[in-house]
Amino acid sequence: MRSFNYHKPDTVDGVVSLLAGNENASVIAGGMTLLPTMKQRLAAPDDLVDISGVAGLAGVSMDGDMLVIGAMTRHADVAESEIVREKLPALAKLASRIGDQQVRHRGTIGGSISNNDPAADYPAAVLGLNAEIVTDKRTIPADEFFVAMFETALEPGEIVTAIRFPLPELAAYAKFPNPASRYAMAGVFVAKTGDGVRVAVTGAGPGVFRASDIEAALAESFDAGALDRISIDASELMSDIHADNEYRAHLVMVMARRAVGMALDAG
Ligand SMILES: Cc1cc2nc3c(=O)[nH]c(=O)nc-3n(C[C@H](O)[C@H](O)[C@H](O)COP(=O)(O)OP(=O)(O)OC[C@H]3O[C@@H](n4cnc5c(N)ncnc54)[C@H](O)[C@@H]3O)c2cc1C
Repeated sequence: MRSFNYHKPDTVDGVVSLLAGNENASVIAGGMTLLPTMKQRLAAPDDLVDISGVAGLAGVSMDGDMLVIGAMTRHADVAESEIVREKLPALAKLASRIGDQQVRHRGTIGGSISNNDPAADYPAAVLGLNAEIVTDKRTIPADEFFVAMFETALEPGEIVTAIRFPLPELAAYAKFPNPASRYAMAGVFVAKTGDGVRVAVTGAGPGVFRASDIEAALAESFDAGALDRISIDASELMSDIHADNEYRAHLVMVMARRAVGMALDAG
């Protein structure tokens, strides 16, 4: 690892002013992705701006009928939050199955969505639930936030401060985890709201995406049987040492049926 300067400001303004105009500065939250990347010399920031000391960035609350989760909230705290368990149990369950204990006690929701790993779990929930990403500058709808593999709509120097989730009528997330890393080989988040059905898929493609054919079938009839005649086009899915694209396409449909069943059981 190369040497770098370490900063630990205690306000969002302090973070933003350290990042401003410094192209080689990087925010560090849980460090679960950034530190291994630095050790492998895939990233070499000159300045690390640790946001773990910023007051108000961690925690769970309700704002009217929106569930608000601070960017620095660790996965274990989302999984164990009474508010999340009551209001959005699908999200608590998703968080409880991320990585292993060590990862869940360090990794943060803001770090996960900002990193936008194509196999990460939270992006499926954020997109599937049509959440809003709050930054120090603006609010970004989920449909505009996830741009491409490891790429988001965040501008240089912009940080996520919170995620606001509308509450669905029914929701569930099913994933087929890679047995070594626990990252999703295919993960499907299904949400039914008064406005319709949204389905977001992670792990299978080069980035999280909405599965419109599955959404249309479930909008007609929200039950696993509605998916019997649907298949997903494998040509744009990933093939790697863990699974080829045809296998991932099959897994997506299996996870989608499973998620619908789980949502109905929970509702
Ligand atoms: C062994 C292992 C297994 C894992 N398994 C899973 C899994 O099963 N499912 C899953 O979803 N994830 C998994 N992860 C990822 C992990 O859960 C973390 O969410 C992820 O590493 C990033 O979160 P972090 O807080 O550690 O971010 P960091 O590593 O600190 O940062 C990651 C990136 O996001 C940026 N960043 C961080 N916070 C913000 C912010 N608030 N605003 C703007 N930019 C920000 C950083 O600058 C950096 O570029 C795994 C990780 C490991 C090491």
